Amino acid sequence: MRPFASTISLAEARRRLDALVRPIARTEHARLEDAAGRVAAADVTSAIDVPPFARSAMDGYAVIAADVAGATPSAPVRLRLLDRIYTGEMSAVTIERGSCAEIATGAPMPAGADAVVMVEETARSADGQEIEIRAAAAAGQHIGRRGADIAAGDRVVAAGDLLTPSRVGAVAAVGHGEIELFAKPRVAILSTGNEVVEPGAALAPGQIFDVNRFTLGAIVSAHGGIPEPRRAAQDTVGALIDALDACATADLIVFSGGSSVGERDLVIDAIAARGEMIFHGIAVRPGKPTAFALIGAQRTPFFGMPGNPTSCLSNAYILLVPFLRAIARLPPHAAQTVRAPLGRRIASAVNRHQFYTVRLRDGVAFPAFKGSGDITSLSQADGYIEIPADQSVVEEGASVTVTLF
Ligand code: AMP
Ligand code: MG
Repeated sequence: MRPFASTISLAEARRRLDALVRPIARTEHARLEDAAGRVAAADVTSAIDVPPFARSAMDGYAVIAADVAGATPSAPVRLRLLDRIYTGEMSAVTIERGSCAEIATGAPMPAGADAVVMVEETARSADGQEIEIRAAAAAGQHIGRRGADIAAGDRVVAAGDLLTPSRVGAVAAVGHGEIELFAKPRVAILSTGNEVVEPGAALAPGQIFDVNRFTLGAIVSAHGGIPEPRRAAQDTVGALIDALDACATADLIVFSGGSSVGERDLVIDAIAARGEMIFHGIAVRPGKPTAFALIGAQRTPFFGMPGNPTSCLSNAYILLVPFLRAIARLPPHAAQTVRAPLGRRIASAVNRHQFYTVRLRDGVAFPAFKGSGDITSLSQADGYIEIPADQSVVEEGASVTVTLF
């Protein structure tokens, strides 16, 4: 055994990680339908006015406002009907004093007209030739001005903007079917351990199924990365170095297992051979034996996560997610929190910042943590509470903040 000489605080680990974020520079072209949730890599500027023409905002009649200035239900104004204008059609007529045209919502205004009276304020003569207008109209009424939404030259999306559904819509509105995006970081994911085998294979005595490759892949996908799973590596320094070398094209590397202080925990030796250790050992529980390094000439960021599935995933939430999102240029994840009374007393490790999973039942937070090796510590929990390093007990009934998964 080679015990930890020292650990750093969670705050210090976060500081070091923040300082080493290199936001992704690669960009790619994508179809607009694939852009939601991604980050724009270039400004999108409109070459057109939107709407591209003045249009009616109501089903009704295009009129000259001055013609109907005095119209009321008891003293209506009668106008000659010149045309019916539907969407997608330009009317050939010009509205002159005493005339009007029927117009649909979204149809182009005919020449001469300067207002729309909605159909509810009109009546049609028996022969259909004349329209009775029963309300006055102000010039411009119910007209969507050309360029009212977006003017030619306006920027609708800026480089670095997250493409929300509405921003995807704004890009579509100006007629772009493709968009330049920042590439998603490629994240190499690899489990270490002689005992780890693929789910679906048969388990030989002493073996277990790989959990971490799947939890890490899922969390990477959920936070803007492309998981690139690799074959599990054996516990030899040579195999781990080969595995590191095979990850050279990734933007981020995440190993699990072998990061602790046992004789077979050789990830640290592989890092020593290929990179620079930034930290090893954090005063958190679970997840103390976590390493972070920069690998190779490219100084590719590397997380060495603990093998215990709950430790691994807990630190993925706490450390990997913020780091990955920053590389991906995504805004920080805003996890939802709820306040709840604690259903049972919790004793916490002193000198370690503890993430303690809880289950919410009828508004009460019950401890759900079993052990660092038990994935059900997380899978049967709704969220976690944080217990600072200098606190050893949280009493039953205490009001706690639960961060939901
Ligand atoms: P290690 O961090 O390699 O010392 O492993 C700690 C514990 O986690 C051991 O019980 C391992 O068998 C287990 N473990 C390591 N990697 C995985 C994995 N990918 N999936 C599930 N359990 C694992
Ligand atoms: Mg191991």
